[in-house]
Amino acid sequence: MKKVIIIGGGLGGLSAAIRLQSRGFQVTILEKEATLGGKLQRHQGAGYSFDLGPSTITMKSYFEEVFTSCNRRMEDYVTFYPVSPLTKNVFSDGHTVEFTPHIEQMETQIAAYSPEDAKQYHAFLQESKRFFEKAEEQFLNRLLLTWKDKADMKLMKALLAVKPFTSVHRLLRQYFRHPHTLAMFGRYATYIGSSPYEAPAIFNMMAYLEGEKGIYGIKGGTYRLVEAFETLAKELGVEIRLLEQVKKIHVKDRRIEGVETDQQMYEADQVISAADALTVYHQLIDEKDRRSYSNQKLSNIEPSLSGFVLLLGIPKVYEQLSHHNVFFPENYGQEFKDIFQKKQLPQDPTLYICYSGHSEPELSGGTERSNLFVLANAPYVTKAQNWDMLKETYRQHMKTKLKEKGLFDIDQLVEYETIQTPLDLQEKTGAHHGAIYGMSSNSFNQAFFRINNQSKDIEGLWFVGGTSHPGGGTPMVTKSGQLVAEAIIKQHE
Ligand SMILES: Cc1cc2nc3c(=O)[nH]c(=O)nc-3n(C[C@H](O)[C@H](O)[C@H](O)COP(=O)(O)OP(=O)(O)OC[C@H]3O[C@@H](n4cnc5c(N)ncnc54)[C@H](O)[C@@H]3O)c2cc1C
Repeated sequence: MKKVIIIGGGLGGLSAAIRLQSRGFQVTILEKEATLGGKLQRHQGAGYSFDLGPSTITMKSYFEEVFTSCNRRMEDYVTFYPVSPLTKNVFSDGHTVEFTPHIEQMETQIAAYSPEDAKQYHAFLQESKRFFEKAEEQFLNRLLLTWKDKADMKLMKALLAVKPFTSVHRLLRQYFRHPHTLAMFGRYATYIGSSPYEAPAIFNMMAYLEGEKGIYGIKGGTYRLVEAFETLAKELGVEIRLLEQVKKIHVKDRRIEGVETDQQMYEADQVISAADALTVYHQLIDEKDRRSYSNQKLSNIEPSLSGFVLLLGIPKVYEQLSHHNVFFPENYGQEFKDIFQKKQLPQDPTLYICYSGHSEPELSGGTERSNLFVLANAPYVTKAQNWDMLKETYRQHMKTKLKEKGLFDIDQLVEYETIQTPLDLQEKTGAHHGAIYGMSSNSFNQAFFRINNQSKDIEGLWFVGGTSHPGGGTPMVTKSGQLVAEAIIKQHE
């Protein structure tokens, strides 16, 4: 039996493990932490349960594929339910737009502050749909392993059709004028850790994707998805070794030999790195063995943004909150200057609040309690930042901002409170510079041609996860696990 070692038990690693094991490979996952899931964790305290990490789950079919590819039904393992409204957007002047697939309802809500933008909404959605269809057809469902793959005529045509050198914001300006609409749809660039002023227009596909395909909650909390993957992996016979950190990838004559952990050496025919590719290249592979990714080349890659997370358990219900909520600042553009240019925490951040107790009161410990996951976009970690100081000052700053948005009495009532800084994320998950989505998509190359899923330098070494193709976010990393597994299976047939 062919042996495969997978470094990292996040969604990407689990997805690849399941597919390979079901096709006769002998797979071992090596995970340095005590739990699987990587950036997706469950956090509990004082009777409150939080999704720490991803909570906006889209593209359900990408998760389903993991189960169907080995003749299982996803519904036997985990329950997805549609969230409605999709997201409640709240602007600084008090206007709100509850994002919904119903076009007339969207037009009415947008018309309340901009009748001109409302008239353009349908046309924008058509463009968003076109982008999504091109992406599905040419980028998302296949790997780009060789120059031949990358220079493929159909891919080139699709690339040109999605306006690769126009930014998300510039495309939005072709339809909309009002800062609220520009912020509401520009925010999708942050789903891939990037700035709407720099990321290519293709990411405007998210409006159609969310509207048409829906946003899902996962019954019992998002971590149930990790547990479902874990159950299936174990059923199939995947060996999962927790609390075992890979320290080095061994290479001989440009071929993978195996990996060395803090406990032992493992030989393998194939190694899949499902940990952050930039960290793995930097820390686990000698520079002489990776000519395509020298230290110099790696240091030119811009990491994606990170996040500052505040978890709050409060014995009170804020009637104004839905399941997913976004509170926009007055000046949306300033946030991206702070994050990407000054590399500092935004003074006036957009605040995303996930209140999963809204859909499932059991998660907040009852109908009179709130389990709030509050996220502010943050810069990736640099040496200039002092997180010991920032973690306290910014925690307070976020609470002050929440009060300004009408969430009163937090300090007086809060029963449970904790934070996760970008530095914590870096330490816990091995994320390069604490970046959530690996590398940013703030340039043509970084958006469309990410770290190769198959090493050009080391035969038998593969990469899945947000830094490689097709990109970051839970559905994409799950997809990359499936695509890489499929490529390895094909190679052995
Ligand atoms: C705050 C936050 C909010 C987010 N919100 C969303 C959202 O709403 N929707 C969405 O779709 N996505 C969201 N994401 C992104 C999403 O969580 C990630 O894209 C996805 O979970 C990454 O999965 P992965 O398997 O590629 O990597 P990871 O989850 O990072 O897994 C990598 C694993 O490798 C392990 N590892 C690292 N180094 C080693 C080593 N040397 N040896 C052994 N093990 C190692 C790590 O411990 C980790 O378990 C969010 C992320 C964060 C942090």
